[in-house]
Amino acid sequence: MQLDTIIRGGRLVSAGETTRADLGIRGERIVAIGSQLTRKLADGAKVIDARGRYVIPGGVDAHVHLALPFCGTVSTDDYDSGTRAAACGGVTTVIDFAIPYGKETLQQAVDNWHARADGKACVDYSFHLAITDWQRQKRDVRRMIDRGIPTFKQFMIYAREGWQSDDAAIYEALETLRDLGGMLCVHAESSRVLDLLIDRHHNRAEMKKHGVYLHTITRPHFIEAEAIERAIRWAKVTGGRLFVVHVSTGEGADLVKRAQEEGVHVLAETCAQYLVLDDSVFAGKDGHLYATCPQVKRPRDQKRLWAGLAGGEVCSVSTDTCTFNRKQKAMWKGDWTKIPMGMPGLETLLPIVYTHGVLKRRLTVNQFVDKCCTTPAKVMGLHPRKGVLQIGSDADITIIHPTRKRKVDWRKMQTNCDWSPYQGWELAGFSEHTFCRGQQVVKDYRFVGRNGHGRFVPRANLGRP
Ligand SMILES: [Zn+2]
Repeated sequence: MQLDTIIRGGRLVSAGETTRADLGIRGERIVAIGSQLTRKLADGAKVIDARGRYVIPGGVDAHVHLALPFCGTVSTDDYDSGTRAAACGGVTTVIDFAIPYGKETLQQAVDNWHARADGKACVDYSFHLAITDWQRQKRDVRRMIDRGIPTFKQFMIYAREGWQSDDAAIYEALETLRDLGGMLCVHAESSRVLDLLIDRHHNRAEMKKHGVYLHTITRPHFIEAEAIERAIRWAKVTGGRLFVVHVSTGEGADLVKRAQEEGVHVLAETCAQYLVLDDSVFAGKDGHLYATCPQVKRPRDQKRLWAGLAGGEVCSVSTDTCTFNRKQKAMWKGDWTKIPMGMPGLETLLPIVYTHGVLKRRLTVNQFVDKCCTTPAKVMGLHPRKGVLQIGSDADITIIHPTRKRKVDWRKMQTNCDWSPYQGWELAGFSEHTFCRGQQVVKDYRFVGRNGHGRFVPRANLGRP
């Protein structure tokens, strides 16, 4: 068979094993895996020397927000810069959240998100759908699943944005999605007590005294834990499939583990920032830049989340990329409730998890691939098209050097952001070469892709839990 590209002599890493083999690409697919593929090389085909490198499936970041209207502004990484950043970080599929605003239908939200991505995206993408008004939107859920969007998100907070779901909506969404083969993602924070704590501290004296530290004072760890506990209860009694997004606390991991042991269909992701940053960042001069929702927690939470990844109760790592630059972050003017919440992350996801997970012996290289590539593809209905290196799968391939480190510098990165939470950090695991559906999009650490190569990927019905 004629091959377009051969990746030669690398160590192919899957979630289960590491093997030395060549990998052959034809068109958009992986068509050959074995030794000595070079002999079958066709004239003009490209050979990538991967000796001494890890060859892994392209990363799947199941939680991003590109060009999101939020907190009175629009997040600055869009489908252009965001997916270029993804490619350089070795991520070849991103899943964004289409959110209906005002009285928009779910279909209108999807159309809006398609318009943002069409012709711009450099890597593949898919959408989750946010449910902002269950009573009105529930009749459209089946049609959305049929169109390749089996995952829906409800927010347990954000009343002011008009996004909040109450317990009845969560309960009924879990029932409905159970029957239709979908999954409910929840942003779990306990809104009533959270709002009370914010009100209590929202005055000039407190803001002068604590500054941005109020972001963490008003969101203690139990704010997340209580909401996760409640969502798990609804999953347990309905039998619906629940995915807790961006778990940031050790208690969250404990609750999910216990529920899984009882047979509840609950999964949890964490994000890179919760694994390597703690709330001491708010004490610094630029503390307000680090405001995310939920916010980074304590060192003991990091430790528990790493253990949860190794143990399995935390199934994947995403980024919750929602980039705001310094000018946007400056909108806070001393009032922490006005900070646009979110940070860049796509370019550093794999390097953070690789460097702080694999090189620090918290995860094996196979677990790294499992958490960043294979499991997110599986639980989101993208597998086996994405997340694995096997014959017939999309040729989404990332090649990383096992030890070579590069210094994080936002000036040299693809993100539109003018700061990085990891500025100056030395990280291994940046992508030396990235392929997205057979097309090389990163070469020798340089972006060589093009806008419009990325395509919408419809996802499979997840079946009954
Ligand atoms: Zn998010």
